[in-house]
Amino acid sequence: MNRIEKACVDKGLRMTDQRRVIARVMSEAYDHPDAEELYRRSVAADPNISIATVYRTVKLFEDAGILERHDFRDGRSRYEEISEHHDHLIDVSSGKVIEFINEEIEKLQRRVALELGFELVDHRLELYGRPITNKKPGA
Ligand SMILES: [Zn+2]
Repeated sequence: MNRIEKACVDKGLRMTDQRRVIARVMSEAYDHPDAEELYRRSVAADPNISIATVYRTVKLFEDAGILERHDFRDGRSRYEEISEHHDHLIDVSSGKVIEFINEEIEKLQRRVALELGFELVDHRLELYGRPITNKKPGA
């Protein structure tokens, strides 16, 4: 059983064959696929899976706290398995998503919340950037 399927079983979700395929595809994803991309990968394993099933299933997994949904401003919801906390940098020129953890940022956010009278329980941080090239002008 893959990690996501196991998480579903632990949370008491009824697992159909199609949900199992989508859970497996998502378990094997190291990127942040959107529903269309998940559909492409899932349909390769089970041609009977519809895009509607993928949408319903990711919503179900998200509501169960198994998948996290991201909006990286390209108009598509992207999904990843909830795991170790990390933040994201989105390359605006290619759409590539880079994961990072920065302890200073983590500390700073806790301090800001504390100064406002809050204990930080969660946060989301997305940086949008363009790669810096070292090409000389005119080169
Ligand atoms: Zn991520």
